[in-house]
Amino acid sequence: MQGLRAAVAGKEILRGVDLRVRSGEVHAVMGPNGSGKSTLAHVIMGRPGYEVLAGSITLDGVDLLALAPWQRAAAGLFSAMQYPTEVPGVALADMLEEALVAVGRGGGDVAGRMRREAERIGFDERFLSRPLNVDLSGGEKKRNETLQLGVLQPSIAILDEVDSGLDIDALRLVARRVEAETEERGLGVLAITHYRRLLKELRPDVVHVLSRGRIVARGGAELADELETTGYAGYAESDGAGPNRERPDGDGPMNGNAR
Ligand code: ADP
Ligand code: MG
Repeated sequence: MQGLRAAVAGKEILRGVDLRVRSGEVHAVMGPNGSGKSTLAHVIMGRPGYEVLAGSITLDGVDLLALAPWQRAAAGLFSAMQYPTEVPGVALADMLEEALVAVGRGGGDVAGRMRREAERIGFDERFLSRPLNVDLSGGEKKRNETLQLGVLQPSIAILDEVDSGLDIDALRLVARRVEAETEERGLGVLAITHYRRLLKELRPDVVHVLSRGRIVARGGAELADELETTGYAGYAESDGAGPNRERPDGDGPMNGNAR
């Protein structure tokens, strides 16, 4: 994506984001609460209510911004959102069948693949026939999303805080599952996370720091280690006052750090 600017509810949240994820690469996006990380994920997926003001997003040369959300998914984009939606009345198995049919890969042994995926990430099989995400714990929803990724085999996956709600063992299984996809199939990953823990198994090629809608720092995996000890103080005003702290535009101390 290039020069991406986007607004929510009339307010500009993303203020010029450049980012390129190649096949097989893992990119981590970190940053304070309210910096626009989830907005970035929603804009890439084309969620209604997010208005693109400028810039481009392409996948293998295809202009994603011209496509409806389902067309983006058919083009190979997958997302695991921070707060997965509960969909009463739709079973996971049916949803996956339909999604595979939509990309011309229906008719296979979806049930078998779901069972194998469930086993790999320690997801209880009895959840497979339940309505999508209904009555699942936070961690179970995240495993559910990872299972979908394993079955759908996208080319790019956006993971928004997939680590939240997962216990240590589940986190390891999920991170390893995604890492395996990057190695075996060349999946490209954009992983939004607050914690280095996820990135121990899902090893990032690049770590980006997003602050107030701009990428203000980039580095290798060591940047995530550094942030774990220093926080974002060096890149932005303290997040300690709570999320979404406002400042008049353009005078934030992080502007001097922008690259
Ligand atoms: P992050 O994921 O980095 O914590 P978000 O992308 O969720 O941050 O939010 C960035 C900013 O956009 C916040 O100030 C948030 O309040 C605002 N925002 C996000 N979604 C909406 C919405 N639907 N309506 C109004 N404001 C929103
Ligand atoms: Mg978020």
